[in-house]
Amino acid sequence: MKALKYLFLLFLVFCQTVPILEDQQVDKMGEEAFQKIKSETPIEKDPKINQYVRCIANRIIEVSRNETNIKEWEIVVFRSDLINAFALPGGKIGVYTAILNVAKTQDQLAAVLGHEVGHVIKKHGKQRIQTQIIAMGGLKVLEGLIGTNPTVMGAFGIGAQYGVILPFSRSQESEADIVGLSLMAKAGFNPQGAIELWENMKQVSGSKMPEILSTHPAHDTRIKELKEKLPSVYPLYNFSPYKDKKC
Ligand SMILES: [Zn+2]
Repeated sequence: MKALKYLFLLFLVFCQTVPILEDQQVDKMGEEAFQKIKSETPIEKDPKINQYVRCIANRIIEVSRNETNIKEWEIVVFRSDLINAFALPGGKIGVYTAILNVAKTQDQLAAVLGHEVGHVIKKHGKQRIQTQIIAMGGLKVLEGLIGTNPTVMGAFGIGAQYGVILPFSRSQESEADIVGLSLMAKAGFNPQGAIELWENMKQVSGSKMPEILSTHPAHDTRIKELKEKLPSVYPLYNFSPYKDKKC
């Protein structure tokens, strides 16, 4: 009985100090963070590159609509040497031109974007902000928290250009990989592209660590896990109305 009383007290304390972060607040933070990046990073105007990236992103968005509940996404291609790409809660996608040298085919870029949208679907950004709020002291912190806060940007995995690197956990990475693989397959991209992508990442990281790897660390078993999952997503790929359509 005493233990129960103690637990109840602990529960009361917890409720008062741990704020509940609403999805809408996180979406707003995503928008604010995106505005900041847009205002500070050159935007690629080349129509061919834009068309190519949008074509791939739109197919991933189309097949993920039921899971994200996001009606309209904004896609921006940034002209940058950073090997990076991201998707944010609230429906924002950023692709940096340098990643096109690593994600060399449409299937490989679809693997990147599927993975990023996977993080949004699994609400990893929200989880990470929540953890940071608790670590920093609870409700008071939440009140002043906006999307341009470096901690929030770090939690979204977009802190690299602002010096905040907060890597996703291994389990979050695996989750995003699995969701991403099925999204790309449904969108008619050959899921083999995911294996090729991470092989390419391994190769380029020999000379310079791609920014995307600092927030999405590649563990040794990633490629092995993806290979094991491949057979289960091939039916999605084979029956996709977009199968192998060129972007
Ligand atoms: Zn990731």
